[in-house]
Amino acid sequence: MSGVTWHYVLKFIITGDAAVGKSSLLVRLTDQRFLSNPDPTLGVEFGSKLIEIPEEGKIIKLQCWDTAGTESFRSITRSYYRGAAGCLLVYDVTNRASFLDARSWLADVRAHADPHLTCILVGNKVDLCDEGAANHKRREVPTAEAEWWAKEEGLLFVEASAKSGRNVDWAFEEAARDILDKIKRGV
Ligand code: GDP
Repeated sequence: MSGVTWHYVLKFIITGDAAVGKSSLLVRLTDQRFLSNPDPTLGVEFGSKLIEIPEEGKIIKLQCWDTAGTESFRSITRSYYRGAAGCLLVYDVTNRASFLDARSWLADVRAHADPHLTCILVGNKVDLCDEGAANHKRREVPTAEAEWWAKEEGLLFVEASAKSGRNVDWAFEEAARDILDKIKRGV
């Protein structure tokens, strides 16, 4: 879609515990690739991508920010949240602690971001739970439990894999659809 103009520019942020796959989701979205051994000190900070929401006839420029490692020190600044329309709240389906920690990341988002921000809960690394996966790991967060919590909190929800690409574009598109809907309703 190069040379195409867009109807909206939306700022997205990605949050969640260290090592849940935030940078990998951003790289998958913007670059369609996966790095199995990313250098944690070289966190990707920013990526942008044009996406199309055909049923709305709209093209959106997503400007997506990553914490780039600052989450390890709980030093995410207010400016990170400022102006964000969408948020991916990420946990690792094979790491229960990362799911439980999502509660405090959500509290942080709610304390600092726009109250109308659309948040999608993303259970990442589902590829590891596939039968026969090379480095198979036990799932520690049942889908139904995460789905229930997301509903309770008014979050969208998806399970995804930055490694295989499963549901990654969908997660961003679904959040963008919800934001467009809010714009239409004047929220
Ligand atoms: P961040 O600290 O949340 O940004 O996490 P990273 O993107 O740096 O990923 C942490 C580790 O998990 C890296 O070794 C990644 O290769 C790996 N990883 C990230 N996403 C996935 C995934 O969907 N599946 C698998 N199997 N590994 C992943």
